Amino acid sequence: TYYIAPRFLNKLAVHITKNFLDLPGINAPLILGIHGHKGEGKSFQCELVFKRMKVQAIHLSAGELESPDAGDPSRLVRFRYREAADIITKHGKLAVLMINDIDAGAGRVDSGTQYTVNTQLVNATLMNIADNPTNVQLPGSYDSEPLPRVPIIVTGNDFGTLYAPLVRDGRMDKFYWEPNREDRLEIVNGIFTPDGLNRQQIEQLVSKFEGQSIDFFSALRASIYDEQILAFIEQTGFDKIGLKVANSTEKHSFIKPDFRLEHLIEKGEQMVKEQQHIQELRLVAAYNR
Ligand code: ADP
Repeated sequence: TYYIAPRFLNKLAVHITKNFLDLPGINAPLILGIHGHKGEGKSFQCELVFKRMKVQAIHLSAGELESPDAGDPSRLVRFRYREAADIITKHGKLAVLMINDIDAGAGRVDSGTQYTVNTQLVNATLMNIADNPTNVQLPGSYDSEPLPRVPIIVTGNDFGTLYAPLVRDGRMDKFYWEPNREDRLEIVNGIFTPDGLNRQQIEQLVSKFEGQSIDFFSALRASIYDEQILAFIEQTGFDKIGLKVANSTEKHSFIKPDFRLEHLIEKGEQMVKEQQHIQELRLVAAYNR
């Protein structure tokens, strides 16, 4: 019962559908670029939308494109694109190509030459595909059969770091995702649905941690289980816990953890403290540079 913000659902649904419709005189951009702060649910909500629309997504991550083992990143992009096209023609299903965190590492201090070259290759390849979506060839083979258009969805932090011609309007439709308070309330409400918090408590929680992104709240929920897990480890014995959980078919059920609002706020404050430690260490590091 996760919540998808209607704006997000609509944008994605229209982008995907538009690329499958042959609208006369309409030149739909092949790529939808969703950008905004990290941890606000760009990738997660994409997956929710795919499930809802029964879209099969073929994934490609920036990490993969960057990996020295991956080989030619341009080939990898084309290969996955053709894979998605195959699903459309052979199974008559909606399929998309999804590239997460496309700008990851662009501002990275240690980005070496390899990375830069790869990024340029990926940018150029995506541009080619956007301009010629029905003719995407793999090196060394030629397929004269035109491909169906495969909508491409990319997520990222800051598209300012991407190659400008790729981001141009005819090639990429842009969508800035920043959940407003109403979205936040609904999403956080969805996260805590199984735990019996009422509307007013959700509002208090969201207000208390005003500046935090969505992933703060899902991490907070996960951390509530830590106490139960520790009790379980102590009960079993630190030395025997491995036997109990690794490769075991035994199901473990825990009593309902303490999801009272005060407890959530207390845990949340601990998490904020940890964030502050990281901030301080960063400042120290910057100062000592
Ligand atoms: P982004 O792609 O914007 O960096 P993610 O999509 O990775 O952020 O979201 C981070 C985390 O926040 C997810 O792993 C998930 O736990 C939580 N989350 C985000 N959106 C939702 C949602 N609509 N419902 C429930 N949890 C969500």
